[in-house]
Amino acid sequence: MKGYRHILMATDFSEGAPLVGQRAFTLAQLHQARLTLLHVVESFPIVDSTYGPIMPFEIDLTEQMVAAARERMNVLGDQWSVPAEQRLIEVGSPKVEIVRVAEEREVDLIIVGSHGRHGVGLLLGSTASSVIHHARCDVLAVRLTE
Ligand code: AMP
Repeated sequence: MKGYRHILMATDFSEGAPLVGQRAFTLAQLHQARLTLLHVVESFPIVDSTYGPIMPFEIDLTEQMVAAARERMNVLGDQWSVPAEQRLIEVGSPKVEIVRVAEEREVDLIIVGSHGRHGVGLLLGSTASSVIHHARCDVLAVRLTE
């Protein structure tokens, strides 16, 4: 069997993240694959009906969110001994960025949790479902339950 060479773990730092991380780390070791971690900071444009998007405030907020994400990412990265250049923070839509980064970095396995911060209401969370539909490589959705 041809093993995986580059595994991308997408994390939202929610409750299930340690289990997803454990799966990713174990598989990366088993396949002697590179492991890249990705968190996407969702930016919400703050729109005022009178003045339109208030850009400076939005940028400021996003910067703070990126800084907070970077700290949490470093805790995870240290825990799994992931090199600094493989700890990625992107800004945008998680489902779009996960697939884009996977293609850009020639990832051959994406690992996501079946659910994230939005709880386990759906059979499969919307991010996991979208990534499975749009990724060109294999996707592992680690089953998370309450
Ligand atoms: P959800 O669709 O929100 O239930 O999330 C399902 C899974 O998608 C999570 O367990 C993560 O693996 C991944 N995911 C969701 N949001 C993000 C995010 N902002 N950054 C990176 N991965 C995410």
